[in-house]
Amino acid sequence: MTAKASMVWTTLLILAGIFSLAFIFFTLFPGQVPDAAWQYFTPAEVERARHYQQTMRLVSILAFLAQIAFLVWLVASTRAAAWSDGALCLTGGRYYPALVIYFVLIWLSLKAVALPFNFYSSFIVQHQWGFSTQTLTSWWLDYLKGGVLDLILSGAGVLLLFWATGRWPHTWWAAAGLFLSGWLFISAFLWPLLVAPLFNRFQPIPEGPTKTMVTQLAGRAGLKVKEVLVMDASSRTTKANAYFTGLGATKRIVLYDTLLADYPPDEVEAVIAHEMAHWQRGHILRGLLWGIVANFLLLGLLYAVLKLTFTYEIARPGPYPPHLLVAMLLFIQLVSFLGQPVQNAISRCYETEADRVALELTGNPGAMIRLQVDLARKNLGDVALPAFIEWLSSSHPSPLARIQAVEKRGKSK
Ligand SMILES: [Zn+2]
Repeated sequence: MTAKASMVWTTLLILAGIFSLAFIFFTLFPGQVPDAAWQYFTPAEVERARHYQQTMRLVSILAFLAQIAFLVWLVASTRAAAWSDGALCLTGGRYYPALVIYFVLIWLSLKAVALPFNFYSSFIVQHQWGFSTQTLTSWWLDYLKGGVLDLILSGAGVLLLFWATGRWPHTWWAAAGLFLSGWLFISAFLWPLLVAPLFNRFQPIPEGPTKTMVTQLAGRAGLKVKEVLVMDASSRTTKANAYFTGLGATKRIVLYDTLLADYPPDEVEAVIAHEMAHWQRGHILRGLLWGIVANFLLLGLLYAVLKLTFTYEIARPGPYPPHLLVAMLLFIQLVSFLGQPVQNAISRCYETEADRVALELTGNPGAMIRLQVDLARKNLGDVALPAFIEWLSSSHPSPLARIQAVEKRGKSK
């Protein structure tokens, strides 16, 4: 490894360490909630939500650190290379079968490292706080289905990527970027049709007042909204939510059945208006375009860092040796973590814009404020986040910020 390479890796690790420590510090010591919160929430509500979110945040950062530690250990202990040699030995030196074995081995190890955190946060904690309605069998079924899907898709991705390193030794990263861009569009289009139904059941919203509300809102927003679906979220959680997904002909708004069951009609209207605002403003497409830019940047940087780190291995003809996979994963994990503030800042912009447009569509600031209060109360959302946590990890502005934005616009009308 060149001196430059070790500087790059050390910088990445130190930065990720600083971010993680600050994240843990502000999770444990979140400071005071702004006084404005007391108009909407009681101290007990704020405390309860904080406690729940503290647990969830600690588990998520520990899971991340455990995976990074595992990858660093693989590289530093030279096991990454030894396992790769072992795989090549096992297949009699045949490259692609060895790559497949090596990938599965690394994939399974990473899954094993993450599993306790995953199980604790999505099953045990969810039951402790009374959110989960899922049985243990159903949890494992979801986990296995998601795992198999991930294994197949990421396995195919890794095979293609390594094949490209042999085919285009200096420009594989651009080829991979192009391929990934195409894939992002295809998967955004197909996800609601092929993947979402593996986990949940979706039904068109029945005729009735909510359907009429959707039609009226769509008319005001100037949208041809064909699909508003109700998802059987209650088979897993008591939390309420909604989302906008798909691309082109597969665009749809999905409402949790828990939202329709537990929230008054004018708050449901505020949710639908918010999702329609995402639709009207093309947020999925704009998000995809940002994703494409980020992927090219990430892959270009990955190539540059691999060239510095594995100068000798890369100079040889043929595809990269399998053990480079571990360094690639480590780099991608670190840079994605450090790039979160940019991604989340863009997402928070879209959320703010969607709230603003939703208010224009419903003209009902009172319902939008009550919706934020109810969602925070029932889903135990942090009322106001410490600035650092919001900056690093929050895709949405905090409920209090969203409430205050509605209040401000309500007054300026
Ligand atoms: Zn949104």
